[in-house]
Amino acid sequence: MRVGLYPGTFDPITLGHVDIILRAVQLVDRLVIGVAINRDKGPLFSLEERVAMVEAECAEITAARGGEIIVHPFENLLIDCARDVGATVILRGLRAVADFEYEFQMVGMNRALDSSIETVFLMADARRQAIASKLVKEIARLGGDVSKFVTPAVEKAMRSRLR
Ligand code: ADP
Repeated sequence: MRVGLYPGTFDPITLGHVDIILRAVQLVDRLVIGVAINRDKGPLFSLEERVAMVEAECAEITAARGGEIIVHPFENLLIDCARDVGATVILRGLRAVADFEYEFQMVGMNRALDSSIETVFLMADARRQAIASKLVKEIARLGGDVSKFVTPAVEKAMRSRLR
C-alpha cells in the first residue's frame, strides 16, 4: 500500500491545491494531506479551520472520484510526520521558478534526514499555476473577487473572516 504525504499550510486551500490533490490521489493508494500549524506565517485561519476546509474539499473529491484521503494536522518535522503516517512519498506542487530554490533545498535536507522517502513534484493545470494562498488573501482583503481561485465555500469563509 503506497501512502503519499502532501504537506502545506493551506491558509486557505485554493484551486491550485485542489488541482494538485486531484493528481496526487491517482498516484497513491492513500493520500495524507499534512496541514502544518505554521505559526510563523501568521495564518488567517486557525489550524482547526484550515483542517475543516481541507476535509470538506477532500470529501467532495473522494465522493466524486473515489480514492482515500486523510487530513492530518502536524507540528513536527515534515520527515517525522511522513514516518508517523507511513508515507514513502512526499508530494509537492511546483509553481514558477520562485518555488524551485526552496524546494531544491528542502529535498536535499529531507533526503539527508531520511533517504528512504522520495519527493515527487506535480504541476497544476496552466490556469491554476499562478494561484497562491498569500495573494488570494491579499486580493480578498482589498475587496477583490477571489471566485476564480478558491471554491465557493472557502470564498464565503474568507469573506466572513475579513468582514
Ligand atoms: P502557499 O505556498 O500558496 O501558501 P502552501 O504552503 O499551502 O501554499 O503550499 C503547499 C504546497 O502546494 C506547496 O508544495 C506549494 O508549492 C503547492 N501549491 C500551492 N499552490 C499551488 C499551485 N497553484 N500550483 C501548484 N502547486 C501549488
